[in-house]
Amino acid sequence: AGRLQGKVAIVSGGARGLGAAHVEMFAQEGAGVMIGDILIDEGKALAERLADDGYPVTFMELDVTDETHWARLVAATVERYGKLTTLINNAGIYHGAGIEDETTQGWNRLVAVDQTGVFFGMKTAMPHLVASGHGAVINISSTMALTGSLRCFTYHAAKGAVRSMSMAAASEYGPKNVRVNSIYPGSIEAKSHEDTLPGDVEAILKATPMGRKGVPRDIAAASLFLCSDEANFITGAELIVDGGWHA
Ligand code: NAD
Repeated sequence: AGRLQGKVAIVSGGARGLGAAHVEMFAQEGAGVMIGDILIDEGKALAERLADDGYPVTFMELDVTDETHWARLVAATVERYGKLTTLINNAGIYHGAGIEDETTQGWNRLVAVDQTGVFFGMKTAMPHLVASGHGAVINISSTMALTGSLRCFTYHAAKGAVRSMSMAAASEYGPKNVRVNSIYPGSIEAKSHEDTLPGDVEAILKATPMGRKGVPRDIAAASLFLCSDEANFITGAELIVDGGWHA
């Protein structure tokens, strides 16, 4: 049996990148998986490919900034799989802007997706996670929640908030046996990373003791552990997966 046998997971932003790695690995480990993403074609294609291989994977459109989308997605998941045990708040966007060149619009958009989206996800899923008796949430933050850097002020702010929200949620839901942990990826090969300035990537690799980027599966594997019953007593934990960048 897989390490997630009996689990049912929602993966936000599951159509590609780190989210898609979660979808694939979680399905292979026995979980039912609902993909939620604004990328409809990619999400559908991934769900169809895995369903063709016999895995119970479904796609539904989700804009994490819209609470009504969350309500629809969570209801559809419970209807399809009978329960919800696991939430992966992975959807996220990034743009490079320092304090003086950030716009109000840029700030609002990034905070809406990376911070408010995580709040809406937890708010909507929690009743079902509690009801399952063994709920688990993973919030994908970033090593940028733990450091400063030259020009992605809003991303630092939102990912820092994800860290604080994870801690607060772990306190609030520990008594209800829902575990909430957060993960801090360093530099991982994914689409979002192509937006990083080339100079930044070089600097990051130079500062990374392991001297290379990670791959999406590195993050999914960390989530897999934290969502499995092996991690039954782990909540409020912060797992850095960055090749030693922070060290
Ligand atoms: P990505 O851009 O490849 O994937 C992000 C996914 O989220 C996409 O499928 C996108 O469509 C989806 N998404 C974006 N806005 C959405 C919205 N409003 N509603 C629903 N879905 C939405 O990026 P990735 O690198 O796979 O990033 C995944 C997560 O990991 C993000 O939270 C990101 O901040 C975080 N992260 C990534 C890295 C990295 O190096 N790649 C490092 C640290 C943290």
